[in-house]
Amino acid sequence: MADSESPKPRTDFIRDMIHADQAAGRNDGWVITRFPPEPNGYLHIGHAKSICLNFGLAEEFGPKARCHLRFDDTNPTKEETEYVDSIEQDVRWLGFDWGEHLYFASDYFEALYGYAMQLIEKGLAYVDDQTPEQIRETRGTLTSPGTDSPFRNRSVEENRDLFARMRAGEFANGAKVLRAKIDMASPNINLRDPVIYRILKAAHHRTGDAWSLYPMYDFAHPLSDAIESITHSLCTLEFEHHRPLYEWLIQNVDGLPGQPYQREFARLNLTYTVMSKRKLLRLVKEGFVNGWDDPRMPTISGLRRRGYTPEAIRVFCKTIGLTKFNAVTDVALLEHALREDLNRRALRAFAVLDPIKVVLENYPEDAEEFIDCVNNPEDEASGTRPVPLCRELFIDRDDFMEEPPPGYHRLRPGGEVRLRYAFCIQCHEVIKDESGRVTELRCTYDDATRHGKKPEGRPKVKGIIHWVSARHAIPAEVRLYDRLFTVEQPDAMEQDFTELLNPESLTVVTTAQLEPSLAEATVAQRYQFERLGYFAVDAVDSKPGALVFNRTVGLKDSWAKQMAKA
Ligand code: ATP
Ligand code: MG
Repeated sequence: MADSESPKPRTDFIRDMIHADQAAGRNDGWVITRFPPEPNGYLHIGHAKSICLNFGLAEEFGPKARCHLRFDDTNPTKEETEYVDSIEQDVRWLGFDWGEHLYFASDYFEALYGYAMQLIEKGLAYVDDQTPEQIRETRGTLTSPGTDSPFRNRSVEENRDLFARMRAGEFANGAKVLRAKIDMASPNINLRDPVIYRILKAAHHRTGDAWSLYPMYDFAHPLSDAIESITHSLCTLEFEHHRPLYEWLIQNVDGLPGQPYQREFARLNLTYTVMSKRKLLRLVKEGFVNGWDDPRMPTISGLRRRGYTPEAIRVFCKTIGLTKFNAVTDVALLEHALREDLNRRALRAFAVLDPIKVVLENYPEDAEEFIDCVNNPEDEASGTRPVPLCRELFIDRDDFMEEPPPGYHRLRPGGEVRLRYAFCIQCHEVIKDESGRVTELRCTYDDATRHGKKPEGRPKVKGIIHWVSARHAIPAEVRLYDRLFTVEQPDAMEQDFTELLNPESLTVVTTAQLEPSLAEATVAQRYQFERLGYFAVDAVDSKPGALVFNRTVGLKDSWAKQMAKA
């Protein structure tokens, strides 16, 4: 992937470490990373950070480098093929390619079972008959050591026999587990004989009923890395305390194809949203949002549907960099990257969300003309388009005020305003319905003000507004979004996070009128509705003749202001 959008070359502790490994000739210079999602939900922007890191390293350190996509599918009760498909689609959409290196931890179940047997043979694992509660209670605390299980010293033969019978399905769920035999007094609780296999009679999305026991994540993950000859296993900080167990397994299992090591970086947290799949699943299941791809969700599929570009997400991930301390990133930074990208690529267009009709009394009844409008001032090659204009127009209700406050430069009774790219108009009469709501403005236009001309001796016209020809306009639904939550860190509050949802996160506007060129709008193209923000066609609900647009982001960049102040 060409990385022309790269903000600036960066280095960080992970890249420094990989350079050092290469300089030392480790792994014959190879860099093999992996992105290991569990297929129990859709990917979110936090996962994008990990994807950009792992696949990004494979691009930067090539040609002796690659990144695997591995589904960590060791928990059959929560995993589904729907999630596998969406994850593959999202990684591809972000612009990354795993080539032939698509793997499933479930493909290693036989190998992992063999490695567990090997630990039993070496006296490094045992079958424990204690209940999960007893195991928890005897694990000890941060300040006191754990106590040995009465089953800790079973003979190798007995362990071998019991483990084989666990596989054969002889015992009930929870009746027995396999534990690594490490050190019940270790200061690191993860080393106090961690459970590495549990009995679970559940059908798996890929292996069906073949297994009635499943490996635990802490066992399956390092050994899957080793099976794939991963060199650098990068994960988030929560796993730092699991690193000694990772290393213990890599050291104590013989015959592994690779010798990976684990390093940790801070996960991405964003303001005004939640990022754990468990919470996102609740929002979906309890109907707070309209599915995983709801444009308010921080999921990759939600951001895509809202109109985010993969380029903006990649630039954002690069900008935030890698650190070793957890923090919350201002969502304005993500929006800033998005605006920068959309400003370059979006086609400009006119749209009126809440129309008031304007009648140009001195414009001939059945005449029409086409005004040349610039498609994208950032990209000369995109040219201009002819936008029709006639005697009747729509302008946005916001652009007219009967009794405006000082400093209001748009239309008012008796006042003048410029119609962008066309000419100035003056308002003579305000027509209202019985409720007092403005329904029509009677105006005249001034031919001498075409093409931005400012005839001498006329009062200066400060305001410029957008417009749509009423006779040519096409109707559309427009969805405006606000923050999904009302507080910056919904996770950090006492209430359940669902109580902090923003009731105004979605506004559906059914009255919009668009310039006719937008009849041909495509999902792939991004638009700037002049003065209103960036918009994208909704890929799910939009139909020809019944267009639906999502506002991707507004035009104003509060982050830029913050940066300027700093
Ligand atoms: P969640 O906490 O949202 O449920 P998870 O860690 O359970 O996520 P996995 O499918 O196991 O989800 O994650 C796949 C990879 O993505 C892991 O390597 C994980 O460390 C990384 N990852 C998950 N969330 C984030 C995040 N917020 N920031 C950076 N990396 C993340
Ligand atoms: Mg996980």
